[in-house]
Amino acid sequence: MIMNGKELSLKIKENLKKEVEKLDPKPSLVVIQVGEDPASSIYVNSKAKLAREIGYEFEHAKFGENVTEEELIKKIEYINASDRINGVIVQLPIPKHLDTNKIINKINPTKDIDGLTELNAGKLLTSKASLVSCTPKGIITLLKEYNVEFTGKHVVIVGRSNLVGKPLIGLCLNENATVTVCHSKTKDLAKVTKKADILIVAIGKAKLITADYVRKGAVVVDVGINRVDGKLYGDVDFDSVSKKARLITPVPGGVGPMTTISLMENVLVSYNEMKKRG
Ligand code: NAD
Repeated sequence: MIMNGKELSLKIKENLKKEVEKLDPKPSLVVIQVGEDPASSIYVNSKAKLAREIGYEFEHAKFGENVTEEELIKKIEYINASDRINGVIVQLPIPKHLDTNKIINKINPTKDIDGLTELNAGKLLTSKASLVSCTPKGIITLLKEYNVEFTGKHVVIVGRSNLVGKPLIGLCLNENATVTVCHSKTKDLAKVTKKADILIVAIGKAKLITADYVRKGAVVVDVGINRVDGKLYGDVDFDSVSKKARLITPVPGGVGPMTTISLMENVLVSYNEMKKRG
């Protein structure tokens, strides 16, 4: 059976819309984009469209390819100090002359709706995070929607990026799962992945995970987005694995829409917390 992220994201969107209708002032977010990377522009435009449909105020802060760290940090500091703006993200990747880690960590953690600052990443491991990285958050929301049980189950995560793999470790542990993490240096990957009750794959290699890597009846989450000859593929070979898995996410229409809607949920989390602080 397919876990339909698109459908669930639309349901969450409708709920957010209803909540935002009652709010005044409206929640507000800024997306900072540097340069003209076409994939980044597509992502930013889809975030802008969704945010406006929900009723948020949205600012697209666009900088040229040659912007300096100082200029970007000045903008972030302005946003941090604003009592009107609730959330900010820096669309990644940014050009090589900019230190990604330094810039991300200039974001006030209470407005870090991507959950990528070191403070929020650390909080995840102590179960205290309110702003959780969007892709991992979306994955957990989707699995729960399909009543996937975590307690005592073996989750195998393939990929250890700061964006996906690592935050998933904390989230799955918080759900009482037993967690194994694999990466490019893991030996005999299939031997480990075959032990998974829940297999989450985030590697960026089209169709690498075939049926030989999956136990019959497993739950499989495919995070990968790989463009091959103009078509999108996940990291999982959907045709063979879907015959063996109990539940599986498609690409597109699985984790992708859950990521964007989780970002929108984080805007509201940040808005409500700002309101509480007064
Ligand atoms: P990344 O490149 O930062 O990390 C890839 C990870 O995969 C690394 O930890 C590496 O060790 C591991 N890896 C690479 N080759 C491997 C192999 N042969 N065997 C085992 N492990 C291997 O990537 P990322 O940012 O985590 O993204 C991974 C994929 O997920 C990409 O396709 C990306 O586009 C996609 N992605 C999708 C969403 C979404 O919303 N659906 C969000 C973020 C990333």
